[in-house]
Amino acid sequence: MNTTPSVLLSVNSHAGYSPEQITDTLTLGELLEAVEQAIEDFGAEARIVVANGQRYGAGFGGIPRREDLFERVEEEFGYACTNCDAEGLDDEEAFAHSRENRHCLVDVEGREAYCYRADH
Ligand SMILES: [Zn+2]
Ligand SMILES: [Zn+2]
Repeated sequence: MNTTPSVLLSVNSHAGYSPEQITDTLTLGELLEAVEQAIEDFGAEARIVVANGQRYGAGFGGIPRREDLFERVEEEFGYACTNCDAEGLDDEEAFAHSRENRHCLVDVEGREAYCYRADH
């Protein structure tokens, strides 16, 4: 029997197309407080398992062990595609990308900016 407990950390991992859109999240200070409380409750050896709330597919994950666990978010400019991985496009690129691929592009606030998709 495994005697080391695992604890679930719920994350909302599909909430936005850019870092600026994520407003409902903890601060580092709040996270530290919660971690201190969890250590008290479960012990420092408890393994963290992340739950992303997905009902289908792989709903669980972990936090990778690396030195720079936290990185500063560089401010993003430009448009991001909601149909593929394209991001950081300027006006001209966004327009061309949308038209050529029939994709839907949003600005940093998530508002639809260029859309040549046939279905909406
Ligand atoms: Zn695209
Ligand atoms: Zn669209």
